[in-house]
Amino acid sequence: MTSPATENPIRYFDHAASSWPKPDAVIKAMDLAMRELGGNPGRGVHELALRTSRAVFEARGACARYLGVPDARDLMFVPSCTAACNLVLKGLLRPGDRVVVGSMEHNAITRPLATLAAAGVEVVVVHADPTGFIDPDHAEKAVAAAPTRAVICQHASNVTGTIQAVGDLADIAHAHGAVMIVDGAQAGGHLSVDLGSLGADAYLLSGHKGLLGPQGIGLMYLSARIDPDPLVEGGTGGAFSLEEGETAERPERYEAGTLNTPGIIGLGAGVGFLGEHGEELRRLELELTFRLIEGLAQTPGVRVLGPPTGVERVPVVSIVHDKLAADEIAFALDRQARIACRPGLHCSPWAHRTVGTLESGTVRFSIGHGISVADADYLIGSLERVVASH
Ligand code: PMP
Repeated sequence: MTSPATENPIRYFDHAASSWPKPDAVIKAMDLAMRELGGNPGRGVHELALRTSRAVFEARGACARYLGVPDARDLMFVPSCTAACNLVLKGLLRPGDRVVVGSMEHNAITRPLATLAAAGVEVVVVHADPTGFIDPDHAEKAVAAAPTRAVICQHASNVTGTIQAVGDLADIAHAHGAVMIVDGAQAGGHLSVDLGSLGADAYLLSGHKGLLGPQGIGLMYLSARIDPDPLVEGGTGGAFSLEEGETAERPERYEAGTLNTPGIIGLGAGVGFLGEHGEELRRLELELTFRLIEGLAQTPGVRVLGPPTGVERVPVVSIVHDKLAADEIAFALDRQARIACRPGLHCSPWAHRTVGTLESGTVRFSIGHGISVADADYLIGSLERVVASH
């Protein structure tokens, strides 16, 4: 998508970091929330508090319907996917537990795991192939080798766009008495996710990426099979004020403190937009992703990472160049062509180690709402010019 009203607009290829621009419906809903929904949800009996509670209830219902969550109370609002990853891992795992984790994980998973490993959790890594895919048979061998508390895997990679067979991994986890934890940060909004049937016991999402909400809001789904300890305790409003410890009731158990009401309402509008336009958007994203994979690979010296064209992935395309550094390319694209993309490790050193780009990093182009065929072709032409001019 282009920034409005300039002759040389920004072409924004950084949706995997945060989607932009947001649909008008999201901006309007947040404007309304700030103007008319000023009460504190769950706290108070006056009209504004009740109206705000209702809006939060409706946004939760919209998110639950969009993600196929059978009981909306199992879907919690959290500040970010990172916060949810910390909560689930630290709230669930105890010294002596063993976990099996994919090698493509983001720091949102690997850093809490490193802390837990130092405290005595055994972390077993299953290595993905060079396209970033984890073979479920390899995962099964790792899980079957010893009693395992959890299998942890992202749904889609923020480096290569690779989609993991998380449903199969969940079956494997359950067959061996483990629970399945899925980092869905890059899948939400880009893949159809049905949490009623997927088999994940925890599914963690950013609100501000493919779900098209604002920054500062995320979602945490928990199945009835798990009950991690909350990391934050305090006021939850409503009927639970007399309880000495945190209530066992969901969603309140994991939502202590005043909620990010404008963020929640914006996220509700984002999933509402996806309910109407999501399928059409997904088709376009895939078409443009394949167009980029093929087009970018034509530039001399460029190698495209991840699954080959034709294999479904989320709309993330990472490249390396045999001579130019990733940040040189990204700076040149920004300065010469006003193309926004991201160079480096994308907070995912494990993934880069897996696909062999830990030293170089990659230049990542990621697509979403508002990108057109013309934008994709402009990027392909601009990369060619940048490489030719060096
Ligand atoms: N996991 C993955 C795969 C991600 O790409 C990201 C965001 N880069 C996160 C987790 C963390 O998301 P957030 O920054 O929204 O907490």
